[in-house]
Amino acid sequence: MRQSKLFTKIRREAPADEVAKNAQLLIRAGFVHKEMAGVYSYLPLGLRVLTRIEAIVRKEMDAIGGQEIQMATLHPSENWKKTGGWDGVDVLFKIQSRTEKEYALGQSEEEIVTPIAQEYAASYKDLPLAIYQIGQKYRDELRAKSGIMRGREFTMKDMYSFHESQEDFDRFYETVKQAYLKIYAQAGLTAKVTEASGGAFSEKFSYEFMVLTDAGEDDILYCEACTHCANVEVSKEKEGDTCPKCGKSKLKKARASEVGNVFDLGQKYPKAFGFTYMDKEGKPNTPIVGCYGIGITRLMGVVVEKMADEKGIVWPESIAPFGVHLISLGKAGDEVSADADSLYEDLVKAGVEVLYDDRDARAGEKFAESDLLGIPKRIVVGRDATASGEFEVVDRATGTVEKKSRAEILTPNA
Ligand code: ATP
Ligand code: MG
Repeated sequence: MRQSKLFTKIRREAPADEVAKNAQLLIRAGFVHKEMAGVYSYLPLGLRVLTRIEAIVRKEMDAIGGQEIQMATLHPSENWKKTGGWDGVDVLFKIQSRTEKEYALGQSEEEIVTPIAQEYAASYKDLPLAIYQIGQKYRDELRAKSGIMRGREFTMKDMYSFHESQEDFDRFYETVKQAYLKIYAQAGLTAKVTEASGGAFSEKFSYEFMVLTDAGEDDILYCEACTHCANVEVSKEKEGDTCPKCGKSKLKKARASEVGNVFDLGQKYPKAFGFTYMDKEGKPNTPIVGCYGIGITRLMGVVVEKMADEKGIVWPESIAPFGVHLISLGKAGDEVSADADSLYEDLVKAGVEVLYDDRDARAGEKFAESDLLGIPKRIVVGRDATASGEFEVVDRATGTVEKKSRAEILTPNA
């Protein structure tokens, strides 16, 4: 894409009312637009990042047998009254129609997915069943000061699974956990898995997926020698205690952000809706349900928080809005700009996702803006490059500069 055509522009100053680093950088660079505290629109660059994160998540959910749907976000209040959520869930947004009828905005989708599963899973032959979606959630959060990491509207991947037995559920639970770890790794993050209480959802245990960052809102205790990790909120352990799992190291305390979790919901939701299936013995039985969330927009915020440097955002290649930022230092009509134009066209033909800075601007300004945008590779076309046929390729994360010929740029794996 030609940057001269991109409708968003880079802002010099961060908005005064925004305290979170992730939102300051994303707003300045034109990835998101703030509507109010906790509510953001995603602009072309931001949507590209979200779409790439979603593609990673979708691939892994499909690989473990999840079936994608899109659920309604405007919910009948009756469903929430059946489960107790209408009065029990403090973050639920309630809407009144002019007809006096009441609705809820989806903050989670158990109230919608359970009746859907009930309609189709009549027999043990229809189980197990895993249904997921990637969509908007609405929550009346009291504090929304973490930028896109805590929204009142945000994007979540939520999956729900229905099982005949606890063993079958436990097996799937473990499968999802492994898929989650793969997802975070692909997005450039290392997640630690805590065992925590189920919170408002369930009395049974759950896993939380935590990424260490000072921008997070949770405190965890973890062991550097093994995978042991616990949320301070529910753990009896303390910093400095010997790890109860491996005994090899002392526990460390750190701030972290919850980028996902999985819950054992037991039979609560099917019971609320009278959902039974015919089991192998021909008797009605209640399925066991699990739910599995990933905060898609929060994950994007965490990546910004963790990887940004003093110059701006640093995207991992896997979720970057573009792979290459091509920068022309020519002026419209000159030899350098013709060289940059033709390199741009060749890169596009080769299937590379390129943002092409074809604007008339000073080199220093272009480089500073490029650093802020955080695209992994920058290729500069200036007078020297056009004369020698060797282009500077700069790695955004490390600052490493390599000289490459056009042929080397166009066949990166050769
Ligand atoms: P938290 O403790 O951070 O409020 P939660 O326990 O309410 O999270 P869930 O309801 O299980 O989280 O939601 C699943 C995932 O959605 C979370 O792990 C998190 O990554 C993300 N998430 C939850 N609330 C928000 C929010 N307000 N804004 C952005 N992402 C969120
Ligand atoms: Mg919450």
